[in-house]
Amino acid sequence: MRLYGLVGWPLGHSFSAGYFAERFAASDRTKGWRYVNFPVEKIETLRDVLPRDIRGFNVTIPHKRSILPLLSQLDPQAREIGAVNCVKVLPNGDWKGYNTDAPGFEISLKGFLNSYDEGLRELKALVLGGGGAAAAVEHALGRLGIALRKVSRHAAAGQLLYAELTPERVRAHRLIINATPLGMAPWVERKPLIPYEGITPGHYLYDLIYNPALSVFLREGGKRGAWIKNGLEMLVLQAQRSWEIWNEE
Ligand code: NAP
Repeated sequence: MRLYGLVGWPLGHSFSAGYFAERFAASDRTKGWRYVNFPVEKIETLRDVLPRDIRGFNVTIPHKRSILPLLSQLDPQAREIGAVNCVKVLPNGDWKGYNTDAPGFEISLKGFLNSYDEGLRELKALVLGGGGAAAAVEHALGRLGIALRKVSRHAAAGQLLYAELTPERVRAHRLIINATPLGMAPWVERKPLIPYEGITPGHYLYDLIYNPALSVFLREGGKRGAWIKNGLEMLVLQAQRSWEIWNEE
């Protein structure tokens, strides 16, 4: 039996379980491969909850940062980001943490911008939200050479408060990334509170949310002629990368 899984709380409908079930079904080595949801409220209990023979697991809200003390090893990229969404169980039983959100986002964003012939370095970005997903986004933007400002509900050096976002500032940052949960099902009517009137047809709006496919944030951009993309491709790419990591020798 090759066992993999997803750790988070609460775990309702999971994309990953369906994705890996399909992946196993498409493989000729499928017999005995399973991907199981492990709803875990208190991360300290994780070692007691997971079966001893698990080969690897994904980590989702709210444990992407709180899992760090439980790991024996950290991939350098995950260390820089400070968040882990993929864990590989090493042959000696140690856990090694990786961040596959960052490369998933990077590849997806690059394709999105290149589709419209955008010179990456000419863009300035606003990243909405200050959680683990935002940290992965910031890491990817750094690799792509795209300058960014963080937008948060909390004041901190170098970042903007939502109240400081004027239409002019929005106009000057033509890439806007929603890395908050605002607009995610079931609260689909929500959206980040930014001055949408500053958005132009030269803007790119990327929402990490994929359910619903067309969030209010993206609809606000679309209404003003901006290019828009949701987080589904990133989700698939981070799952693919997790699979590769678990199966690398
Ligand atoms: P998170 O830690 O729960 O929240 C991210 C940040 O959003 C928070 O740190 C907070 O930043 C801001 N925020 C939360 N509630 C808010 C509110 N009511 N109003 C304004 N801002 C609020 O979540 P996460 O793990 O970073 O994930 C963020 C989103 O990305 C989720 O929707 C998740 O599903 C999605 N995601 C998608 C993928 C993908 O593959 N497509 C991968 C990872 C995550 P401040 O406190 O700084 O304001």
